[in-house]
Amino acid sequence: MLAALPLAEPDPLWALISAFRDDRRADKIDLVVGVYRDASGQTPVMRAVQQAETRLASVAASKSYRALSGNAAFNDGISRLLLGKDNEALDRQCTIQTVGGTGALRVLADFIALVSPAAMIWNTDPGYINHRPIMRAAGLGVKSFRWQDNGTGLDIDAAIADLANARTGDVVILHGCCHNPTGIDPSTEEWRRLAALCKDRGLIPLIDMAYQGFGDGVEEDARGLRHFAAELDTVLVAASCSKNMGLYCERTGAAMVIAANSGPLANIRATLERITRANYSMPPEHGAAIAACLFENPNTWLAELEESRQRVTTIRGNLADALADCGAPEKFQALRRQKGMFSLLPLDQRQMSRLREEFGVYGTANGRINIAGLLPDGVDRLAAALKAVSGAPSLARPVRASA
Ligand code: PMP
Repeated sequence: MLAALPLAEPDPLWALISAFRDDRRADKIDLVVGVYRDASGQTPVMRAVQQAETRLASVAASKSYRALSGNAAFNDGISRLLLGKDNEALDRQCTIQTVGGTGALRVLADFIALVSPAAMIWNTDPGYINHRPIMRAAGLGVKSFRWQDNGTGLDIDAAIADLANARTGDVVILHGCCHNPTGIDPSTEEWRRLAALCKDRGLIPLIDMAYQGFGDGVEEDARGLRHFAAELDTVLVAASCSKNMGLYCERTGAAMVIAANSGPLANIRATLERITRANYSMPPEHGAAIAACLFENPNTWLAELEESRQRVTTIRGNLADALADCGAPEKFQALRRQKGMFSLLPLDQRQMSRLREEFGVYGTANGRINIAGLLPDGVDRLAAALKAVSGAPSLARPVRASA
């Protein structure tokens, strides 16, 4: 058996992470890893999470198995966070706790493969690096539709033109907010156009909400999803608590299926549970129990999340200012308008290598940077490096990251 094992390429992101670790330059800048960092470069446990953990530890009664759908209070809380606490769609949706946002995507992929195996999945180009592999792993076909225009904004006409090739029953993955990797989100009007297109052509939206609270605010970031929920009979939602609660390693997320009415909900739940039962049986309790505490008593958590959101927005503004001050090309000013932790730099692979080799600035090969990885003392240096690599090629001998 093992003789036939095909060679698996190592994950390119992890290769960059170890290259960064091995780089001996003191002023190196890590913009690769997709985690939030505070102004001291840490990814701390939120205070609200620490308080919840203390409380949970003191009342823990049993580690016995929980329900296949996970923690019911969590499922209730996250559905209200996503849809809004008084949304009529709450009565026609089913939510189960999953193993992070990735687990939600995979459960939904298996759900799609079970119900309509011939459905094509439409994915933004550029898009989140793991959407395609997850959908392919469930046996589904994947096609792309354009997202970014030649500059740094959303090309809604191109997106709609490409999606005109989708057939009834096909699934369109949309990022609920803070598009990864571009940071380019639809305006209210563009959300309306996308929803109208899905409605007219019978397409099923799968809204991936991995950064709620990092764009314009917790409620504002859900406006696209809520519009879809109001307009369409069927909406799939994958949610992650990794970023907005900092629960990365606790693997806490949710899969939601919104239906036209409450009629099919029991069967949807039973189907989702059968899918998870044949995979990991049930999700881990700890992260969901923490999240349920945060939903019950949200003030401290929401204040901390707002602090994180503002830090990301401030860094975007500071970087755009520094780029303007040093005379970098105008196209970089889009960094100010884009949302959330990620932006796709208007640089090619060669320029990204130069950033890494000459300036110790690590982003992904396709140009993605994590804005939250930038510390206050790195802003001017990054702006100067971006200006340098976007101009004429350097004659200086590149300094290689040490092995
Ligand atoms: N969707 C998107 C768009 C993401 O960026 C991520 C994680 N970075 C996920 C899903 C997966 O989230 P999780 O870590 O909770 O599995």
